[in-house]
Amino acid sequence: MHIHIFWDSLSPPGLQLPVARMLSSILGIPATVSENHVRMMGYVDGRKQIDAQVLLDSIQAYKHRHAIQDPLLLVVRQDLFKNGNSFVFGLARESVGAAVVSTARLSNEYYGRGGNDDDLIDRITKEGTHEVGHLLGLDHCHDRECIMFKPDTLDELDRKKKVLCKTCSEQLASYHSSV
Ligand SMILES: [Zn+2]
Ligand SMILES: [Zn+2]
Repeated sequence: MHIHIFWDSLSPPGLQLPVARMLSSILGIPATVSENHVRMMGYVDGRKQIDAQVLLDSIQAYKHRHAIQDPLLLVVRQDLFKNGNSFVFGLARESVGAAVVSTARLSNEYYGRGGNDDDLIDRITKEGTHEVGHLLGLDHCHDRECIMFKPDTLDELDRKKKVLCKTCSEQLASYHSSV
């Protein structure tokens, strides 16, 4: 297995390699980054956000067209929402191995603080690994430091560590041996 990461041209440049390296080491699965080939869809003018479900449809169509079985994570700059949520950091569609994360709310600048690439790399890694974790069969976890904990705020995201807890690691290992 192999994880594909597509980095949209509007996403912060220069961060994709460290993110891919860390994501790969947390999950123990190789990952490669390339520029995005998926059609950007789902932008809603009135909200200035992308409907994450529509974008997942587009990733799903791309994967189907190119017969890609492995997980595909798309990293975009635009803010995402889904029906019933004013925003989402990211979203995964397990059934088709497609996931998307947005960097919009992951930068210090968004919250009026000074920018820091290391913070941004950390957060994209945590969010990206979390969504790919769903694609590998993992559910949400109650351990606040685990990658699979679902953060509602940036502070909760920052509190997480870049590791899977013991329970989630074991689940991932058993998923690996079942495919
Ligand atoms: Zn989740
Ligand atoms: Zn866990």
